[in-house]
Amino acid sequence: MAGGIEVEQVITCIDCGGRAHLISYPPEDGWQPGDLVVYRCEDCLDRWDLVVPDEEGNVPDSDDS
Ligand SMILES: [Zn+2]
Repeated sequence: MAGGIEVEQVITCIDCGGRAHLISYPPEDGWQPGDLVVYRCEDCLDRWDLVVPDEEGNVPDSDDS
């Protein structure tokens, strides 16, 4: 089971609706839940830090109970 979790290469910018590109490089053993991935919007140049969810879409360290 190598390769870790797939993450989106491009997301939609929350601010302007533009395309935000992944600028983080994956670790050697792939992304794992709880890793931080960084995107930058090509339109407004905002930076977005997201946490990699697990395979069920849950963010391990979120506390929304
Ligand atoms: Zn933007």
